[in-house]
Amino acid sequence: MSTFKHVCPEKTDGRETESQRADTPEMTDDRIRAEKLKEIDLFVLDLDGTFYLGDRLIDGALDFVNYIWESGKKILFFTNNSSRSPKVYMERLAGMGCPISRDQIMTSGDVTIAYLKETYPGKTVYLVGTPALEESFRQEGISLWDPENAGQADRTAAARPDLVVVGFDTTLTYEKLERACTYIREGAVFLATHLDINCPTEYGFMPDCGAICAAVTLSTGAEPKYLGKPFKETVDMVLLKTGVSRERVAFVGDRLYTDVAVGVSHGAKGFLVLSGETKLEDIKNSQVKPHEVYGSLGEMKRLLCGEIPESHA
Ligand SMILES: [Mg+2]
Repeated sequence: MSTFKHVCPEKTDGRETESQRADTPEMTDDRIRAEKLKEIDLFVLDLDGTFYLGDRLIDGALDFVNYIWESGKKILFFTNNSSRSPKVYMERLAGMGCPISRDQIMTSGDVTIAYLKETYPGKTVYLVGTPALEESFRQEGISLWDPENAGQADRTAAARPDLVVVGFDTTLTYEKLERACTYIREGAVFLATHLDINCPTEYGFMPDCGAICAAVTLSTGAEPKYLGKPFKETVDMVLLKTGVSRERVAFVGDRLYTDVAVGVSHGAKGFLVLSGETKLEDIKNSQVKPHEVYGSLGEMKRLLCGEIPESHA
């Protein structure tokens, strides 16, 4: 039974809506899609292609977020992009009229840090990442391997770091790539913050973490353990941080193989929005099938309010 509270300004009489629902012998497709939304207590939203496109807010996205907050439910923004710090996203969203707190934004870098602290406490990490990601690791007490100081102080016994972690490193150099490959060949564990191969830009694409990892794999023969979406560690961290039960969490995004797959593969919901890179016809060629498809966050809000949604067929 849904505990959803109607807070649409144009729908002041909630009982009338319930009455209309009871008089309808068969639920329409749109009503079923609305009911699916009402079963959710936490919406985990992707950013680019879902909440904004580049520097532009997607129509209705802010309305959706405000509506969910007003209804007493939760929003968590999650991005696989590990090149920027959560603080940068907080500032960006605030500039778009959506101020959030630190606990309302999570990145694949956060999941990687949590995984390192739990699985490899006290181990040294050679990080192929941006200065922002390095700072996040340091703040959380991860011991970063500094090749310039290797062999000195307390590292005299070690010839290499325990782990190599590759992120979306927009400051990548050949030297970093070479060191990462050397350490992995010498036995360092190989982790990656996320598997995305390309990051969309206003001009096309730029090589993302998965593409950097492909170069390392080609050189070393070693495959990384990936974190971020669509992997279990991400869902576990979201559940731990929010306290919401798995079946009442929906991951919402514009990519089937990350945003949607993370929900459908781990007992939560996976909702696709068509405001970004995926088109409706892409679903039939994908192994990942979303629980529901919505045109945009704006359409989700209109469905929740009982308004006639826009067609995306
Ligand atoms: Mg996206």
